Amino acid sequence: MRIDFVSARSILDTRGRATVETTLSAGMFSATASVPSGKSTGSHEACELRDADGSVASAVANVNGEIAQAFRDCDFASADEVDALLIALDGTPEKSRLGANALLAVSIAATRLFAQVEEIPLWRAIAARGGFTATAPRLYINMMNGGVHAGFKLPFQEYLLVIEGKTSDALPIAREAFAKLGERLGSVSMGDEGGYAPTFDTLEKPFELLAGLVQEFPHTSIAIDAAASELYRDGAYHLLGKPYSAEELSALYRELVERFSLYSIEDPFDEESADDFSRLTALLGEKILIIGDDLTVTNPARIKEAAERKEINAVLIKPNQIGTVREAIQAVQATYAEDFVAVASHRSGETDDTFIADFAYGIGAHGIKAGGLAQPERLAKYERLLEIEHEAS
Ligand code: PEP
Ligand code: MG
Repeated sequence: MRIDFVSARSILDTRGRATVETTLSAGMFSATASVPSGKSTGSHEACELRDADGSVASAVANVNGEIAQAFRDCDFASADEVDALLIALDGTPEKSRLGANALLAVSIAATRLFAQVEEIPLWRAIAARGGFTATAPRLYINMMNGGVHAGFKLPFQEYLLVIEGKTSDALPIAREAFAKLGERLGSVSMGDEGGYAPTFDTLEKPFELLAGLVQEFPHTSIAIDAAASELYRDGAYHLLGKPYSAEELSALYRELVERFSLYSIEDPFDEESADDFSRLTALLGEKILIIGDDLTVTNPARIKEAAERKEINAVLIKPNQIGTVREAIQAVQATYAEDFVAVASHRSGETDDTFIADFAYGIGAHGIKAGGLAQPERLAKYERLLEIEHEAS
């Protein structure tokens, strides 16, 4: 396929920050993609190219210039070939030259373009490309935000309700539970991921509220993303103004698991504290999912290393942490090679692009994090999951 039109521009994400949107065309076919942006980013993530003024002008220029130029002489046989060219063209391990945001916008658009030409839905193209069995992911609904997504009003970054079952069954439960929680919280602000952002003076209160919902709604359980790198300074984790050692934090997790039957804990410790991950996985890994995010950053080599050291038993997959669809698929393959489950995830800064819904379904993800039910950019992903369910039936 000859990609005869390449054009990028800067758009705004849910935080009103600049991000990259790209359109590719091949004859009568045309596909557009835009990329999200994280806030609690892992230090080993691929590089999001941002200029000193906060714009993505250089990333946009790289697509319109160097990438468009390189595509001119190419006849691509697959979206994988497009990604291979992007990776080679950038030439750096962390995608710092052209920018992972520039590369991923092109990579997702190319994935869409090939799916269009092949006349198959995007999720089916992803499943075929990775050799995955497509299935509906569990919804990990963001109910309450804390950490850097809500000015640390709550210590942990995400308090989630995991809902079993296909999207058309799970989403009505999510909607009712989200509305109920809203009534109980009264007038509170919203966090970056479209969940509520209340203030409580005890660690337990958000769990008690979620436990009430779990009792009312079948097929639900509680999960958290501690995003603990953001809590860690001077050798301790700071929760509601109190310092915790890694051992004390482990004991707290154990208590929460016992009391509230937690389903999963993501990033329980700082991204450099691999031994603490291993100890927690030895302690709780038979009962719950210990999910790596900042620890593993959707990087196949880091996933393999974390598995060898038994640091986790589940992996969060965020395509923009690695920079191309091809490598995100490889990260899922590395996850499955360890018999771990994958949870596909949006970012805290999102656009209306629904790629992550197709990706989650296509890889047969155990779950998807797509935020709360308060921002259209989050709702678009849930709507797309419903649409996929229809396409797949
Ligand atoms: C996360 O940490 O899982 C997350 C979605 O937040 P961010 O996009 O800010 O990394
Ligand atoms: Mg996380």
